[in-house]
Amino acid sequence: MTTSNKAIQSHIPGFPRIGAARELKFALEANWRGELPDAELENVGRQLRARHWALQQQAGLDFVTVGDFAYYDQVANHIQLLDCEPARYGFSADQSQLSRYFAMARGNGAKVAASACGHDHSHDHSHDHSHDGGQVHASAALEMTKWFDTNYHYLVPEFTPETAFSLACERLFDEVDEALALGHAVKAVLLGPLSFLWLGKAKDAGFDRLSLLDQLLPVYGQVLDRLKAQGVQWVQIDEPILGLDLPAPWRSAFENSYWQLNQVGVPLLLATYFSPLEENLSLACRLPVAGLHVDGVRAPQELTSIADWLPVHKVLSVGIVDGRNIWRTDLDAALTTLAPIVEKRGGKLWLSSSCSLLHVPFTLAAETALDPEIRSWLAFATEKLDELYVLKQALQGEYDAATTEALDVSRAAIASRRASPRVHQDAVRERIAALPADADQRRSTFVQRQAEQRARFKLPSFPTTTIGSFPQTANIRAARASFKRGELSAASYHAKMREEIAYAVRRQEDLGLDVLVHGEAERNDMVEYFGEQLDGFVFTQLGWVQSYGSRCVKPPVIYGDVSRPKAMTVDWTVHAQSLTGKPMKGMLTGPITILQWSFVRDDQPRALTALQIALAIRDEVADLEQAGIGIIQIDEPAVREGLPLRRSRWDEYLDWATRAFRVSASAAADGTQIHTHMCYAEFNDILPQIAAMDADVITIETSRSDMELLNGFGQFRYPNEIGPGVYDIHSPRVPGQAEMVRLLQKASAVIPPANLWVNPDCGLKTRGWPETETALRNMVAAARQLRAEHAIY
Ligand code: GLN
Ligand code: ZN
Repeated sequence: MTTSNKAIQSHIPGFPRIGAARELKFALEANWRGELPDAELENVGRQLRARHWALQQQAGLDFVTVGDFAYYDQVANHIQLLDCEPARYGFSADQSQLSRYFAMARGNGAKVAASACGHDHSHDHSHDHSHDGGQVHASAALEMTKWFDTNYHYLVPEFTPETAFSLACERLFDEVDEALALGHAVKAVLLGPLSFLWLGKAKDAGFDRLSLLDQLLPVYGQVLDRLKAQGVQWVQIDEPILGLDLPAPWRSAFENSYWQLNQVGVPLLLATYFSPLEENLSLACRLPVAGLHVDGVRAPQELTSIADWLPVHKVLSVGIVDGRNIWRTDLDAALTTLAPIVEKRGGKLWLSSSCSLLHVPFTLAAETALDPEIRSWLAFATEKLDELYVLKQALQGEYDAATTEALDVSRAAIASRRASPRVHQDAVRERIAALPADADQRRSTFVQRQAEQRARFKLPSFPTTTIGSFPQTANIRAARASFKRGELSAASYHAKMREEIAYAVRRQEDLGLDVLVHGEAERNDMVEYFGEQLDGFVFTQLGWVQSYGSRCVKPPVIYGDVSRPKAMTVDWTVHAQSLTGKPMKGMLTGPITILQWSFVRDDQPRALTALQIALAIRDEVADLEQAGIGIIQIDEPAVREGLPLRRSRWDEYLDWATRAFRVSASAAADGTQIHTHMCYAEFNDILPQIAAMDADVITIETSRSDMELLNGFGQFRYPNEIGPGVYDIHSPRVPGQAEMVRLLQKASAVIPPANLWVNPDCGLKTRGWPETETALRNMVAAARQLRAEHAIY
């Protein structure tokens, strides 16, 4: 080993696996369509790994990372590595490992399907949950959920008292051999046993999955034995749950677990990221492992104490380059942070990205159309590797010409970003400084507004509406694609979209819905549509980030003060309103959702960026109102996913997030009805804050959980009007009238019937028209039945 005597070393916790040109995505989808044999898919995987390791080596990292590759998800890899595939799949011994893997990931018989629900981030859709009246089908895919506070989704391991573990899968060891054969120094990566158990779900009520730990540790021990025998130099073992509020039994399980694993004798680098260690800091420092990786971007305030607490014989790896965002590192600032730590550590330190680079796009090299000044402020995965090299050279005092030049270029970029007039707009700053304290308050109380709105709209009780989008048909997508290619003129594209809007309005009138929508035909994505029209946003060509499986998203980049040059939705909405006598609901995306699904500035607090976006949306609300639109929905499906990982930080976030929403909504007069929509079922723990958003009407997901959500409404009386979704748009299944009536009756038990709306649980963009019409016809009939049964006014 030639590198071991160098004092400063560098590595990364993980690299994006999807490929510079999303090669893995296309190979996976071809394989799922039956067009690419497994062996060829494996070839694509092998080539990608080789290429990504070569990039790491060429960039001067001291180890390549092996074990971060996955055909779908790294947590799912561990389900096979540890041989705990759920028994419900009934896999047979002759079924190939890859086919079992995809069966768990996608459900048996899953097809490549389009995404649903307004935005790729919000839900899973190629994923076959096969829900049937609330029951999960035996062969349904594993549940998917967000990986900590990222927009990456992992597959949730299922644990029962019968779960057993063994070493059953060679994939990791094969990959290690591949890397060794290519001549690399290898650091293997594993998800640690405690995080693996924590991230899974106990299938039987009352079963404590931590009780599986004693069985699990020996298998981890075997994995480590094998890795050691293969000749890996380090094993990085990820325990990101050390950044969470852990129950005492979980915390106290760490010491003994790592004492056992450390017996194997392969050097372990315990990796934490995304969140400060806080009360787990001293625990993390004293665990019997050879090294500790910490997130120096999310928790820079802890670096000094970690450098003090961590015994000097242990390796300290500092994640100094942001693995969660796309900004170039301020190298001078990083060196200033690192210098005293190096000194404390007797000249030794490992440098790293804060977390796996999975969460950032692959390379800037492909971004030929980006404005060159803005481009100079960015660093994607490969550029971050280069930054680590420069930092390493500089810390070792090796100021060769390349290092000096790289530092100069970095300095110039940082200075240009700091001073650029494109980032700072005085008008935006002045507006915020002058914002009255009550800018987040409607003029009157909800009760007064409700009276005025009832007199104005004269809606029946149990009013019916939809969440905004209607089916994005092949026609609509083809028109948009040819418009983007420049084959269809703007005028013809607009004419086509107006026709689609007219069609959606006619259908809704025929169905007898009470509050109509224009259908969102003109929108590709609910965040991109607004970002493209706002100042302060820029879009990449190839800045893809894996969301789950083969699904990637291309988040907008918010680089500067946000403002709205002109109205964004008024023409479409006014056109739609002109076609009907029923109220037409204007449709906007809220500030928190736009923030949450973008790469956000790191040179000002998120709260301030949220407020800037809120003001742009506020202006749109005012313009819609001015144009005669009486009902406006501001979608906020991402409020909950923005919650900090630590509960102690929830209040602060919820304060500014709900305020940003209110600022966006509060320009509305009392007679204007503000709706919001959220599509997740778990928000009982933030119900008071959701109520504090003070929307006149909220529509939410509840149908999949059989209105379980409403349990929380027993203790907390939701004060305003509410539409708990009565049917699941994520499934092609069309529920009948009786089923929806039953759900509405269930809801009426905890919500005053006079405050109940009737609607699906999310937008209909991924559904086809025939099923949509049948489902909505049943829904309208259900509402009519309820009106007949409850004479409210
Ligand atoms: N208005 C959006 C739609 O109907 C809402 C999407 C969402 O909740 N993610 O598509
Ligand atoms: Zn939704």
